[in-house]
Order: sequence, then structure tokens, then C-alpha cells
Amino acid sequence: MKYPIILTILFGSLGLHGENLVTNPHLLPSNGEPDGYILEGDTTYSDLTRLRKETTGHGIRLLSGKDINKDKSIVGSVSTTVTTGIPQDSGRWLRFRIRGLAQEGFRVENDELYLKAGFFAQNGKVPLDHIQTRIYGLIERERNDLRDPGTNRKLGPATWRSYSLDFRTPFREIDTIRLTAGFSNGIGKGDNAEFLINEIELIPIPTPLKYASTKSPPPLVNTSLKEMIHIGGRWYYNPGDGSRKLPELFNHRNADRLIYASNRPIAPFTNNMTSWLRAGWVDRNGKIADKDRFVPDNLNIRITGDSLAFHSRNLPNHPTAIFPDIHRAVDGNPNRIQEKDNTWYIPLKPRENKDRKAMDKRNTNRALPQGPIGLAVNGVIFFNPFDHINEADAVWRMDRCCGHPSPTSAYHYHKYPVCVKTPWRDEGEEHSPVIGFAFDGVPVYGPYEAKGELAKSSRANPLNDFNIHHDEKRGWHYHVTPGQYPHIIGGYWGKIDERNRRRPPARNNIGPRPPGQRPGGRRPPQERSRRIPSPRIR
Ligand SMILES: [Zn+2]
Ligand SMILES: [Zn+2]
Repeated sequence: MKYPIILTILFGSLGLHGENLVTNPHLLPSNGEPDGYILEGDTTYSDLTRLRKETTGHGIRLLSGKDINKDKSIVGSVSTTVTTGIPQDSGRWLRFRIRGLAQEGFRVENDELYLKAGFFAQNGKVPLDHIQTRIYGLIERERNDLRDPGTNRKLGPATWRSYSLDFRTPFREIDTIRLTAGFSNGIGKGDNAEFLINEIELIPIPTPLKYASTKSPPPLVNTSLKEMIHIGGRWYYNPGDGSRKLPELFNHRNADRLIYASNRPIAPFTNNMTSWLRAGWVDRNGKIADKDRFVPDNLNIRITGDSLAFHSRNLPNHPTAIFPDIHRAVDGNPNRIQEKDNTWYIPLKPRENKDRKAMDKRNTNRALPQGPIGLAVNGVIFFNPFDHINEADAVWRMDRCCGHPSPTSAYHYHKYPVCVKTPWRDEGEEHSPVIGFAFDGVPVYGPYEAKGELAKSSRANPLNDFNIHHDEKRGWHYHVTPGQYPHIIGGYWGKIDERNRRRPPARNNIGPRPPGQRPGGRRPPQERSRRIPSPRIR
């Protein structure tokens, strides 16, 4: 049986979603083994943090360049079995998602890197069917499309991102699902010929839009919006079967009720409002955490007047490099990542800005301030491309999730954060989804304009200097432009809420410069003598 891979999802048809059915999603060890997982072939398990100098935790390495078990073929996989929480009726949708990173040397022939879900009955004894998707083509495409020549050379261009397989349970009898991520025909070379995995999930999802009904055409966006409560601009509240009164607060429990009318209704913050305060990071009281702590309210949203008020602790919910960067894995950034108490306001309805201007090549016109200019759907802030005035851009200073902490210990992105786990796929098959909002309330979309077309190279609807363009369904919207200035936004298209400016200036990061890199501007003297603190990370 063959299922198509699904790109679009409809919200609201199944109510709340997001509970992970995998019992050990972070691959934690028990007696040195990943509890609940089976490794086969040329696959190893270790603490990737120690290996990669990132806050990655434990994980799997699929080795495409080494026949470590000497069976004369380069093949490997990791799998886990799910037996609880499987829907009791057929036709329910689930998403098998991994967080993975394909190092530059990772190579396979015939597209043989795959995600697979196998279905079993009678307590897992009787195999019934399976569904599988190959993801190597996506990796090759992104190596090309998202390439940024400014990336830190030591780290290389690889980034952490989500890969997923959406499927529906084919039979009622299923009591066991086996999830496998694996490869064969490995032809990688060198030490970095590996694919890393540090997170595995199986979550129930709403029925994808085009499968909501097989008998009639998919419902029009306007029809489903009609059942929702209009908040303002393109924002809606979806009450589902519940109260039609607007909730006081949107958090991780009801994030899927806060709807933004893109080309279809979407819930931008779903599964993105919680995070972890990692060991070595600093809490709000200035104390360095000695162990990982779950933070359920990393992002909360209130509707106040004609604004959305975001309360964000600004903790990235994905791997980061280890900061302070005492190993000089990146640029020797001396700052830690700190939990913040940020409040940001964006207008529900973007307001026209008649005085708008875009940054010139070095932002000498100060069209965008230093410091925060918007936020991603996980609550982490966007900065302009510059770390300090006149530097070409800060791309080379960032970790493999496209971020780093500022001197005020605020983690931030200067370019497309591929690691941000949006509630949607963004795999270059159609126009990208929303990945965040600028402070003027205008949405920021991912890099693609259409299948096979990056927005930065669109001829039919080119981006202007603000990195913005207009289409009928989405209105005005920014796009991120990998490898191309200004990377996120080039200036505010709309008016921003002045409350976002009334805070202590958050300076962009000023760290040491790699040898051979020429400064474009002068660094303030007090920054020049900054020293990396002695190692005391954990
Ligand atoms: Zn577009
Ligand atoms: Zn920075």
C-alpha cells in the first residue's frame, strides 16, 4: 500500500494534538544504551554534546562511510516501538518526526536515507503493512538551496532540522507501530560522513487538508474561517467545540486555537511554546543552571487592544553550540544563553509606514535598529544581519542553528533559522510557511516561493530591498533569503509598536574575529579587550 507524502494540514478537525507517543524521545541512556531503541548495522550511540560541542544531548550516528560491523555493506538504522496511545480506529493521522543533521560528508546512493513506519497486530507479532519516505533528496536539495557562503567554515553549512513522515493508520487491528530511521548504500567519505539524530517523535496530527474529505473537494479557507472568531487583521480564534469567548492567554495547551489566515488557516505557534533551560545556561535570576529544566511557558500570547503581546523567555527549543564558546567551535563568543523576560507587541493589523526605508548595504542609514526586530514562532528574537556597525554580516559567527547569544546573553538569529520546528513541513515543494513575525506585524515566510523556486530568485514576483513582496492570498509578506543579504528582513514595511523600543538597548553580539577576516568598522575599545571566561560549563 502506498501513501502520498502530505504537505498541508487542516487545523481543528481533530481538536488538540501534539502528545508524543514515543516514550524516550530524547534517546536518553539506560546502562549506556538508548532506552527503548534498537541499533542495527553501521550505527553508533553516544553523547553527541561531547562529540560535537553542541547542546545536543545523546543521539544516534548513522555512519555512511564506515563498515564498522564488517559485513561488507554500509547500512544502518535505529528503530523504536510504540505500543500505547495508538488510535483505536483506522484513518487517524500521525506524524513520525526526527530531528537530524546531515554532516557534509554524509552520502548515500539511490536516495537510500529513509523514515519508515511499520504496522503490527496481535501485540506486535503479526506484521500488516508499512509506509516509508526517502529523505536524501531533500538533504541534497537543501545543501544547494540553503547554502550560505558566509557560514562559519569550521562548522560547515550543515544545520539541524526536522524530517517527517505523515501517515494514517491503515487498519483498526494495529496495536504496535515500529518507527525506523535508516540508510543503505552508504558512500560517504571522511570523519563527517554521518547523519546525526537526537530526537524522535510520533504525534497525532489533524487530518491534512486535502484528505479531510475524499468525496468532496477540500473546504475553502473562507468556509473554515467563518466558523472562527475574528480577532483583528488576519488573526482568528478557533473555538472548536469549546467556549466562543476569547481566552485570556494562549499557551502550549491552546496554541492550536490561535489562527493566522495565510493562504489557508494556520496555527503558527503550535508545538513551539515550550523549551528547556539547559545546564550551563543562565536563569532569570542570573544563576547558572546545573541541570536541564523543562520550561512549559517559554512563550505565551495575550491579545491586548489591537496588538498581540508576546511574553517570551527567549530559550531556543533546538540544539545550540555550547556558550560561552570556550572550545572556539564558532568564534569564541564569550556570552552565555540566558532566560529572558521579554514582552513584545506586534499589531494585529499591520499599519502603513509612509516613512519606510530599507537598509543600505551596511545599514549606515540605520533603517533597522541593532537588537531585536521580530521573533520566530518559538519566541526567539530576530536581529538584523550585523553584529556591530559596518561588519559585512554576522553569518560566520552563528552556531549550526543560525543563532548565538548577544553580550546581554539574548540568543538571536541573524538569518533563516532552519532548526526552528514550525508546525509544517518546508521542503521546497510549494510556497514556504510562516516562520515568524517582524515587529511591524508582517509575517516572515521561509525561503521558497514555489516548487523549485527560491523567493530570492523569483522573477515573476521579485522581493524588494525590504525582502518583501505581495500576493493575493498572503498579502504583503517577507521571505528569508539564505546566502543573500539582508537574510531576514531589509527594513520595516509597516509601523512598529513603540513599546518594543522602550527597553534597555540589547546590543548585537561583539565577539572576537577569526584570523584573516577584516573588520568593516571600528570596534568600541571596551569590547576589544573582552576575554573568554575560564571554562566552567557544567
Ligand atoms: Zn512569497
Ligand atoms: Zn549576533
